[in-house]
Amino acid sequence: MKSHLQAAVIGGGIVGASVLYHLTKAGWKDVALFERSELTSGSTWHAAGGMHTLNGDPDVSALQRYTIDLYREIEEISGQSCGVHLTGGVILADTPDRMDWLKTARAIGRHMKLDTELVTPQEAYELFPLIDPACFVGGLYDPVEGHVDPSGVTQAYAKSARIGGAEIYLQTKVEDLQPRPDGSWDIVTERGTVHAEHVVNAGGLWAREVGRMVGVELPVLAMEHMYLLTDEIPEVTAFNESTGRQMMHALDFGGEIYTRQEGRGMLIGTYERAGKPWSPKTTPWDFGHELLQPDLDRITPSLEIGFQHFPPYGRAGIRQIVNGPFTFAPDGNPLVGPVRGLKNFWCACAVMAGFSQGGGVGLTLANWMTEGDPGFDVFGMDVARFGDWATLAYTNAKVRENYSRRFNVPFPNEELPAGRPLRTTPLYDRFKARGAVFGEAYGLEYPLWFADEGELAEDIVSFRRSNDFANVGREAAAVRNGVGLYETSGFAKYSVTGPGAELWLSRLLANRTPREGRLILSPMLNPNGKLIGDFTLAKTGDESFYMVGSGPAEKYHMRWFEAHLPADGSVAVRALGLDRVGLMIAGPASRDLLQAVTDADVSAEAFRFLDFRAMEIGPVPALVGRISYTGDLGYEIWMAPEYQITVYDLLMEAGAPLGLTPFGLRALDSLRLEKSFGAWAFEYRPVYGPYEAGLGRFVDLAKNDFIGRDAALREKAEGGERRLVAMAVEVSDADPFRDEPIWHDGAVVGRVTSGGYAHVAQQSVALGYLPRDVAENPGRLDVEIVGEHCAARILEEPLFDPAGTRMRG
Ligand SMILES: Cc1cc2nc3c(=O)[nH]c(=O)nc-3n(C[C@H](O)[C@H](O)[C@H](O)COP(=O)(O)OP(=O)(O)OC[C@H]3O[C@@H](n4cnc5c(N)ncnc54)[C@H](O)[C@@H]3O)c2cc1C
Repeated sequence: MKSHLQAAVIGGGIVGASVLYHLTKAGWKDVALFERSELTSGSTWHAAGGMHTLNGDPDVSALQRYTIDLYREIEEISGQSCGVHLTGGVILADTPDRMDWLKTARAIGRHMKLDTELVTPQEAYELFPLIDPACFVGGLYDPVEGHVDPSGVTQAYAKSARIGGAEIYLQTKVEDLQPRPDGSWDIVTERGTVHAEHVVNAGGLWAREVGRMVGVELPVLAMEHMYLLTDEIPEVTAFNESTGRQMMHALDFGGEIYTRQEGRGMLIGTYERAGKPWSPKTTPWDFGHELLQPDLDRITPSLEIGFQHFPPYGRAGIRQIVNGPFTFAPDGNPLVGPVRGLKNFWCACAVMAGFSQGGGVGLTLANWMTEGDPGFDVFGMDVARFGDWATLAYTNAKVRENYSRRFNVPFPNEELPAGRPLRTTPLYDRFKARGAVFGEAYGLEYPLWFADEGELAEDIVSFRRSNDFANVGREAAAVRNGVGLYETSGFAKYSVTGPGAELWLSRLLANRTPREGRLILSPMLNPNGKLIGDFTLAKTGDESFYMVGSGPAEKYHMRWFEAHLPADGSVAVRALGLDRVGLMIAGPASRDLLQAVTDADVSAEAFRFLDFRAMEIGPVPALVGRISYTGDLGYEIWMAPEYQITVYDLLMEAGAPLGLTPFGLRALDSLRLEKSFGAWAFEYRPVYGPYEAGLGRFVDLAKNDFIGRDAALREKAEGGERRLVAMAVEVSDADPFRDEPIWHDGAVVGRVTSGGYAHVAQQSVALGYLPRDVAENPGRLDVEIVGEHCAARILEEPLFDPAGTRMRG
């Protein structure tokens, strides 16, 4: 073994092998893979090898497409066959809702250049003549689907990596990982210790155990998974002989099965409702090339429907049952990237679809390690999207839910119940008693909307307008006509203190730091000048700042802050979590309300737009900022959690004569769309520049140097490639939501980043990026919503208060 490496990859499954290959491709030659047994000795060897491009997250879809295209490349380099069978596939819908989902998925895929086709039941039968077409309402044909040989692919990656300079150490278990003060690692193996600058955890079934070696509890759980291999099926042989082709893949939502040809029979896999976790706490190290005991009873309910939908299956004998474990994160997407709090420690774990995603994960991680940036929009797979709240028990509940819903239709207004409530604020019970319907983000419950007394306080899931529509409209109107109250505790709050705080912030953020007692909005850029954050920053003292950003990005941002802290200890940054909670009041009567609960002078002259100061709310010490995300006059009030109920009760009492109405996130979204305001994670993401996003006025190129300044200067001079636009969309009963394609002159030119109904303006609105020339000269635009083309026009100014007098007045 070498004594020193640039990177050590732990795990020789499909994912570790792909990471190793991509590191060599990126130019790192001094890299090695450590495998405790032989390659493929985790979940890889018994996989069904299926691959497809469709995914609920379009960015993950793009990486799946990359993975499939990569097989030709590694076959050529290695001379090793991947056993690729690109048969195409058909996804079958047996209900109108499932068909709606296929229409939506097809539309989303268009932006990724995935050419799928909707088919009738008869056409589906012609593609896949093992179904009973009477059981279905339609399907979606995807030409880029098929399967590979799991072992062949892993070997092809490994051989290609070796050709690129990598070494592979088999029968070499990594037993411990010891950090050195300079951020590098000692890799303690059963064959001796190796020093490496970087470590990658691609431990698959043992990813948790490898994480524990460095004190990290990763939210990963393995589930048992079964597929059957049938004896020869005469209809399959007849199809092969008459067409000269293999059967294609099929996926049946109703039967909860996926299926493809294997030999002269078929492979039938299920994601059963009563899925079973495997080794929920610790994975035994002596588990190797072995299968688990099959349990046909568990999958019988799925098979019974499957046998109706695929009549020849009911007549076929079963040749073999394969039951093996593989891992999932709570939301089913991989865990990739650097782990907060550890230097040079990287994850490539929880890859549940290794043969669709392994290539994309390898490329992402290699980019990140060698360039400092993943190169794509990968928040959906970033290991930082889960905080410490994602415990073993939470992960267990969510993974089981996710597994059992693998073939469920995901509705845009659907909130999943498992593992909840987990994190709540003191107001949870108050809001619940008022009929709040809750959503969950970063483990925290927050009101989406409020049901009236006697009304059903839950969403009826749908792709179209649903039972919340009128209530959200009333909440939005209450803000515009009087005053509303919204809980802001879910935002991330940070304190930044120390003698170096001001200089550090002005190097980190694109805008200048504010004067004491004032707030400023500021994007944060990476060195490529792309948006990696947007914050409101208040100066609260000589050496102290209070900063507010996106809640779900708290860990993602802390990882960045900590990586950029000066070594001299002159700056301390702390995520305040729920040690600081908040309330927003908004609407033309919000000033009167605030004045009614404080002795401080909050008149327009004394407390101006973007002022920020400490004041007492009734008897409670609070920090108050005059800021608006609704586009109306508004205030954010921050306090310690033990005071929140007192402040809330005071406001509700003083606000009663003003018509104070609590509102939820859906009304807030409706109000911000009316004002064409973007939001982090939707409009603001690491693939867009500040000028493209319309945030150029918050970039101060004249101040000191800051991260991303050179790239921002270039973007400003060149104008950027795209523009964020707000569009009015003419719809029937479904509003734009997210990811719908935007059409121009018969081609898809962009996708909706967020959309909905602006209730007060009574207009459907979509935000999205368009190529600059299209945005400047749009002609006819359409947004495709649930299969329907809806005319759209760019809004030159916001629908509500374009001059901003309400907000600033
Ligand atoms: C029955 C079944 C069917 C499936 N069908 C499909 C399918 O059709 N399509 C699809 O895309 N996916 C499928 N999968 C999932 C697929 O198998 C996984 O996505 C994939 O195997 C994950 O690969 P991995 O490299 O992350 O993990 P693993 O394959 O588990 O590899 C991890 C490797 O790390 C090694 N290792 C761990 N810890 C250490 C250590 N400390 N030192 C040294 N080595 C270590 C292990 O020995 C192992 O070889 C299926 C899985 C199962 C069980």
